[in-house]
Amino acid sequence: MSFTTDLIHSIPVDESTGAISVPIYQTTTFVHSSPGVYQGYDYTRSGNPTRKVLENLIAKAEKGSTGAAFASGMAAIDAVLRLLKAGDHIIAGNDIYGGTYRLLTTLYKNVGITVSFVDLQSEAEIQLALTPQTRLIWVETPTNPSLKIVDIRKVARVAKAHNVWLAVDNTFASPAAQRPIELGADFVVHSATKYIGGHSDVISGLVVAATKELGEQILFVQNATGAILSPIESWLLIRGLETLELRFRQHSENAQAIAEYLSERPEVKEVFYPGLKVHAGHAIATSQQKYFGGIVSFRLRNDTLEAARKFTTATKLFKLAESLGGIKSLIAHPASMTHASIPKERHAAFGITDGLLRLSVGLEEPTDLIADLRRALKAVSVPEEIIL
Ligand SMILES: *Cc1c(COP(=O)(O)O)cnc(C)c1O
Repeated sequence: MSFTTDLIHSIPVDESTGAISVPIYQTTTFVHSSPGVYQGYDYTRSGNPTRKVLENLIAKAEKGSTGAAFASGMAAIDAVLRLLKAGDHIIAGNDIYGGTYRLLTTLYKNVGITVSFVDLQSEAEIQLALTPQTRLIWVETPTNPSLKIVDIRKVARVAKAHNVWLAVDNTFASPAAQRPIELGADFVVHSATKYIGGHSDVISGLVVAATKELGEQILFVQNATGAILSPIESWLLIRGLETLELRFRQHSENAQAIAEYLSERPEVKEVFYPGLKVHAGHAIATSQQKYFGGIVSFRLRNDTLEAARKFTTATKLFKLAESLGGIKSLIAHPASMTHASIPKERHAAFGITDGLLRLSVGLEEPTDLIADLRRALKAVSVPEEIIL
């Protein structure tokens, strides 16, 4: 069965009423019939029927064993990192999500866990960073905002050979496009705030563990630390998963059209989109992703803050805001917004300059989106002698 058909029909019909939509079990506790005798749920932090449907669904979507739902993407990431202990070492991409970078370099550093940030596109760099203390490799692909592609199979081989866990933050690709566990990952994490929620209305995170044993460890952390997703938000993510592939396919189609349009424009110096044949990671992306995704970054030829300001205030459909993955198109200025917490001297590793812009391409008609960009490009038009 296809991904979407299987997913939609894995959502159970409510046995007691026949309700086709999953009931929202908005309850903290569950009645016992006698001490120790109850129907599988005792307290919502430890487990909730609505959340359980979501957790089973994301495990299925990611082809893993166990899912766990958290109050945010950061809480999900934290749950995986909590499996490590003082003295352990992590290898992470040098352009990972700013929140993950902050967590690793402050709270986890404080408890004696060390991190090497490397270019995960290079196997040699990974090999060089490995130590006997390495326990985990942390991958994001495509990366933000430069849309670099990391070869998950290749990193998984290195991880397996050294008995190191591999975790993949799959937020940008979503399980509709990429399933890292099938490529060798031990954990997948999501900021479900983005494509899985899909409507810019719920902050949430998910972890999927490849094996039952790792899943039990994650569920232990979930119950012990308590950063659970609420029943109603779990319901919103179930609803999001039902249309995930439909939306993601269209996000990707719209993004491809926009990336191709921007590539032709003299006001644009460079376009970053894995669906473009000229993209350095295009072949790997093709081998591990079904869709190339809805994020397009580009650098203005006039690579200045002033031009970025003109552009981002000239668009009408692309709203200037952080985050991504929703129905409405957004534009972000990474240097001053999403990556402001990353030290300026590290911006080069991310490919960030003042004239770099990131689009989260929404579900509007692509012709309308392109018209919106055309208008904004007029605001930053470059004199002909500069183009030549
Ligand atoms: C947004 C994001 C996160 C953090 O998720 P929150 O839901 O905001 O806590 C982690 N990783 C990636 C790649 C993200 O885009």
